[in-house]
Amino acid sequence: MNTDEIVKELSQLAISSGKLNPAEAERKALLNEVAAYANRFISGLDKVKGFVEKEVADLSIKNNTSAIGDLLLQYQTEVAENGINAASPKHLGYIPGGGVFASALADFIVAVTNPFASAYFASPGAAHMENKVVDWLKSVFLFPENSVGCLTSGGSVSTLIAFTAARDKFQIKNEKITGSVVYLSEQVHHSTQKALRIIGLEDVIIRYIPIDKEHRIIPNSLNELIIKDKANGLNPFLIIATAGTTDTGTVDPLNEIADVAGLHHLWFHIDGAYGGFFILSSKKELFKGIERADSLIVDPHKGLFLPYGVGAVLVKDSDAVLHSHYYTANYMQDANNVELLKSPANLSPELTKHFRGLRVWLPLQLHGTEPFIACLEEKLLLTKYFRIQLNQRGFCTGPEPDLSVSYFWYPFILDEDQNNRLLMQEIHRDGAVFLSSSIIDGRFVIRMAILAFRTKKETIDEAVEMIERCLKKVQQNLQQP
Ligand SMILES: *Cc1c(COP(=O)(O)O)cnc(C)c1O
Repeated sequence: MNTDEIVKELSQLAISSGKLNPAEAERKALLNEVAAYANRFISGLDKVKGFVEKEVADLSIKNNTSAIGDLLLQYQTEVAENGINAASPKHLGYIPGGGVFASALADFIVAVTNPFASAYFASPGAAHMENKVVDWLKSVFLFPENSVGCLTSGGSVSTLIAFTAARDKFQIKNEKITGSVVYLSEQVHHSTQKALRIIGLEDVIIRYIPIDKEHRIIPNSLNELIIKDKANGLNPFLIIATAGTTDTGTVDPLNEIADVAGLHHLWFHIDGAYGGFFILSSKKELFKGIERADSLIVDPHKGLFLPYGVGAVLVKDSDAVLHSHYYTANYMQDANNVELLKSPANLSPELTKHFRGLRVWLPLQLHGTEPFIACLEEKLLLTKYFRIQLNQRGFCTGPEPDLSVSYFWYPFILDEDQNNRLLMQEIHRDGAVFLSSSIIDGRFVIRMAILAFRTKKETIDEAVEMIERCLKKVQQNLQQP
């Protein structure tokens, strides 16, 4: 090709490739349609169901073009209105999601501007902003200034980073693995055991710490387990507690567990993915000792009601984190560490990533923290209200929860478990409000997890109505011959 041919070919290609970069008028038109859909979606949330079960239509990618309106419609019917509606007030299953609007706007701006947030030199502002979010988290959880942290995709990846640091600090590798011991309760989230496997610690010894009637770790039993393991020549190194378990919302006695960890010089990890942010609420007392953890994970996409895709991890020992995540060497000098720690990529397995700082920073700066705290407080009260309503209608409820996850069952005279399963199925078929189930103390129970920021008293009233409606159906079916 000579220069003329190249120039001609380039001008041809520019016509097609330019479609990826629409002109202002077209951008406006696209934005208007997207904004209209987003507004319609949010305004309609009170009227749609919490859960819909239907087949997904064919969404395969075909090499043709479609209008944005048609594609948004497809998104609406196949994605947004199918399965659990996590943005709706009526998601009270598993751990509900969020979707604070300001965060959505932040994501849009981030995608448009696309800063490379992982390296300080590439985008000092983005890296700084992410670090300021981490600093704010340190202040909330009373972690020292020289601890480190980063924003992740969620609790699972945060856990990986925390456990990897613990592993490297204690040099749990090679033949040392099989004699090393991790202590956790049966109430830990399954991402905990999964993380151990992923980081090569599948063969460590896992000790299940005895728990009390309220599902809390018994610190004395933990201490005894460790003493026994040490006496047997094993190598205890990691204790995992949960600040808000997934199943029952229980906060383990963090301060007493920290005592045990300190006594034996073990790594103390706290999973606050669901419950952590309740430290900002009237339940603050329950979190005493959280600042004594070596590592802590929290999920802003749960307790700060942000859209899915943002977790956070805090770790006190920066060297332990850098050991795995900073790759090129010579990082052991403290003077260097300060520079290194400015770049999120040195603290995380991710290099190029979505800039998550703005989706946390913007809503906190726009609204202040007060509405977030009010929202957490509201969820605690709604949980109380829900339990009272259920008790008044003859349902049994689990023990008074620490936070906003609780459970209930109906005391059917015969086949209690089986009939509560039928009740759960009926509730899912109804779908007005989404609830999920669990097995707690060997009993099939229906969980209510109240954390969606849009959930209000009206939602709970609707849930109670739905539960009564479904109970009637189950009872009617039972009476048929
Ligand atoms: C949700 C949750 C996790 C996992 O976090 P993801 O953000 O889903 O990866 C871990 N621990 C607890 C207690 C949780 O509730």
